[in-house]
Amino acid sequence: MQTIRFHVRGLGSGRAFVLLAALFALCFGVMVGLIWVDQGRVIKTASDLQDKTVPEIIRYQRLARNLEQLRQAGERIFSATTPEAMQQAMFVVTLMASHPSVLEYPEAAAQTREIERFLAGIVYDSTTDKEAIAANFAAWQRLSARLGLLVDDVSTQGVNLLSTDLDDVTAAIRLARFKLNVVAIVVGLFLLLFLVLFRVYLIQPLQHIGKALSDLGVDQPAPIFKPAALAEIQAVEKAIGKLHNLLAENEKARQALEALANRDGLTGLFNRRHFMTAAEAELHRAQRYRRPVIVGMADLDLFKRLNDTYGHAAGDAVLRAFAVRLQENLRQSDLVCRYGGEEFAFLFPEITLADAAALAERCRATCADSAIDLGDGRSICVTFSMGLADASESTLEIALSRADEALYDAKRQGRNRVIVSGASQAREARSFLPLSPASGGAESGEETQA
Ligand code: GH3
Ligand code: MG
Ligand code: MG
Repeated sequence: MQTIRFHVRGLGSGRAFVLLAALFALCFGVMVGLIWVDQGRVIKTASDLQDKTVPEIIRYQRLARNLEQLRQAGERIFSATTPEAMQQAMFVVTLMASHPSVLEYPEAAAQTREIERFLAGIVYDSTTDKEAIAANFAAWQRLSARLGLLVDDVSTQGVNLLSTDLDDVTAAIRLARFKLNVVAIVVGLFLLLFLVLFRVYLIQPLQHIGKALSDLGVDQPAPIFKPAALAEIQAVEKAIGKLHNLLAENEKARQALEALANRDGLTGLFNRRHFMTAAEAELHRAQRYRRPVIVGMADLDLFKRLNDTYGHAAGDAVLRAFAVRLQENLRQSDLVCRYGGEEFAFLFPEITLADAAALAERCRATCADSAIDLGDGRSICVTFSMGLADASESTLEIALSRADEALYDAKRQGRNRVIVSGASQAREARSFLPLSPASGGAESGEETQA
C-alpha cells in the first residue's frame, strides 16, 4: 500500500493551542495577582479599622464624654446652693481631670488642670462678694466655652479618623472592583478571540474540507483551498488534492482498460462481448419504441487461402484494412464488431431491411472494387459474404442466427454477395475474383471465386 507523505509548512495546531493557552494563562495570572494584592489591601485596611481606629475612636468618645461631664460639674458648682453640693460637684471635676483618658491627651490634661485649679479656688474661697462672683462666673464662661470647643474638637478628630480609614477601605475596594472588571473583560475578550480563531482556523477550513470531500469526483475540478494556517489542515487539504489526482489517474486507467476490454486488439473494432451488450440495449430500445432494427453477419471469402498464399501477417493486415473500410462505409449509429476470426457482426438501427441491404451492398461493392495495399508492393482484392435479418420482433440471438443462415446461403450461392434472411430472392452481387491480385500486384489471378 502506498504511503503518502506531505511536507507542510505551517503552525501546528498543538503548538498554536499551547501558545494561546500560555498567553491566556499569563494575562489571567497577572490579573489574578493584582486582584490578590488589592484584596490584601482591603483586608489590611479593614483589619486596621477594626484593631486600631475603632479603639481610638472609642477613646476619643470617652474623652469627649469625660470632658463634657467635667464641664457640667463645673456648671453645677456655680448653680449649687449648698457647700455640700459644691463639694460633690468639685469631686466630679477632680475625678474627671485625673481620669486616664484625659491624662492621655496633653492638651486636654492641661486644660482640665487649669479648670480644676480655677474651680477649686472658687469652691474653697466661697466669697459672698457679688462682683467677685460675677467676675468668676464670666471667667468660668470662657473656660467652659474653651472646654466645649475641645469636646467638639475631640469628637471631630474621632470622626475624621473613621472617615479617613473608611476612605482608604473604599478606595481599595474600588480598585479591586476595577481590576476584577478588567479581568472579566480580558477573559471575555480572550474567549471571543478564541472563538473567532477557532472558527476561522478550524471550523471554516473543516467545512471547506467537508464540502470538497463530498464534491470530490473525477468529473469535478480539483478542489481549491485558501492557504491554511494550521499544518494539520494543510496536510489534509494536500491529501485531498493528491486524492483528486489519484482519482483522475484511476479514471483514465479505468477508461483505457474499459476501451481495451471492449475492443478487439487486431482491428480496433468492438469485440463480441461488448457488441452483444450494446446490441442487446439497442434492440430493447428499438423494440420498445417500435423502430426498425436489422442485424447482419459477414465473413471474408476464402480467407484461409489468402493466409496460405500471402502469409498470416498479410491476413492480419487485410483484417485491419477491412475493419477501416467497414467503418468508413457504415453510418455513425451502426454497430460493428469482430465476431471471431474473419467474421463480423452488425446492427443497423433505424433502417428498413431493404435499406440495410442496399447499404451492405454498397459496402460490399466498395470493398470488392478497391484492393488492399499490403505495404510490400503487393495489393489484394478481398470480398466478403453477408447475411441480413430483421431483428425488430425477435431476440438478438435468433436474429443473429438467421443472419448467419443467410450468410451461409451467400457462401453456398458463390460468395461475395449479400443475402437477406427470408427474402424470396437473394440479392446477388456481381461475381468477383476475391483473391485476384490488383493491377500491378505480384501474384497473377490464379485464384478465382469457386
Ligand atoms: P469461406 O469463404 O468459406 O469462409 O472460407 P474461408 O477460408 O474464409 O473459411 P475458413 O473457416 O476455412 O477459414 C477461416 C480462416 O481464417 C482460418 C484462419 O486461419 C483464418 N483466421 C482466423 N482468424 C485469423 C486472424 O486473426 N488472422 C489471420 N491472418 N487469419 C485468421
Ligand atoms: Mg469463417
Ligand atoms: Mg471465410
